[in-house]
Amino acid sequence: MNETPDLSIVIPVYNERGVLPQCLQRLEQALASLTLSVELVFVDDGSNDGCAQWLADHPSTIGVSRIISLSRNFGKEAAMTAGLETAAGKAMIVIDADLQDPPELIPEMVEQWQKGIDVVLMQRRTRPGESIMKRFSSRLFHRLLRSSSKLDIPADVGDFRLMSRRAVEALKQLPERNRYMKGLFAWVGMPTVVLQYDRAPRAAGASKWSYLELSRLAIEGITSFSTRPLKLAILLGLVAAFCGGAFGLWIVFKALAFGDPVQGYPSLIAVITFLGGAQLITVGIVGEYVGKTYIESKQRPVYLVREITEVAQQVAEAEPTTRHETEA
Ligand code: UDP
Ligand code: MG
Repeated sequence: MNETPDLSIVIPVYNERGVLPQCLQRLEQALASLTLSVELVFVDDGSNDGCAQWLADHPSTIGVSRIISLSRNFGKEAAMTAGLETAAGKAMIVIDADLQDPPELIPEMVEQWQKGIDVVLMQRRTRPGESIMKRFSSRLFHRLLRSSSKLDIPADVGDFRLMSRRAVEALKQLPERNRYMKGLFAWVGMPTVVLQYDRAPRAAGASKWSYLELSRLAIEGITSFSTRPLKLAILLGLVAAFCGGAFGLWIVFKALAFGDPVQGYPSLIAVITFLGGAQLITVGIVGEYVGKTYIESKQRPVYLVREITEVAQQVAEAEPTTRHETEA
């Protein structure tokens, strides 16, 4: 493959062996009508179910497949980064392997790009197959993030999106190790349109996210793009100090005026535990930022590539396929 493909489809894959055949088939169907040259960039995020091998054995009919195998599971954010950094296309689309993001929408996204738009965001109108709890927490998080970071991150927008080369090059200039992609994408800006779609339930397999991980991502998102929690910590400190001062004055006044005998064990304990809690929370918030600074200062790469495999396009039905292996 020498010439630059028009469109790169970046697909992070983590133990998705069950959906890959369907995924490839749907992509092929959806992209068959496009006149653009297409490259499929699968990022195997340390799967242990033979995803990469399956992909290497199944060339696609729409374009070259590149399989980037990471050295271990780095998480979807890192996998997407790896895909976007390796993909060569003039425009790139990030799409989940589990078919929750319908590939049929790709031509519509490409149309917007051809009109000169740099970023096409896909906004979920509905999210079937997701629990009320997940929807609620996701909405709450979006609201928190938007209000605390001043970034224009539209609600219900996931990673499914098209980005022009320009936008991806801009994204590549953001070197941070803590990669909250939705925030990074929003930070880049560029002319953007938002298209709406109905999110499908997962085609097969189970979601790789647990609530614990989602809350980790939420903390990550907020602390990566805002220092407001630190300001809240100061505010909490001020309020506690003020209340403490007022309470202290009241006790002194009471002792002087009424000659209070020793008393007040419950209030003492209440104040101590309240202050103890407030201090721990504050130290925790500060710690979160210190930890981030520590991680960033180590300058470790976001991901490590074990191997990149290129699978040539399958031209005719029966023709044998060539397979090149390149060491990364
Ligand atoms: N994924 C990944 N690395 C991970 C977890 C997930 O590359 O550590 C991929 C996964 O294969 C899928 C996409 O990210 O293509 C979205 O994952 P999932 O469907 O589990 O997330 P959800 O749709 O529930 O948010
Ligand atoms: Mg999914």
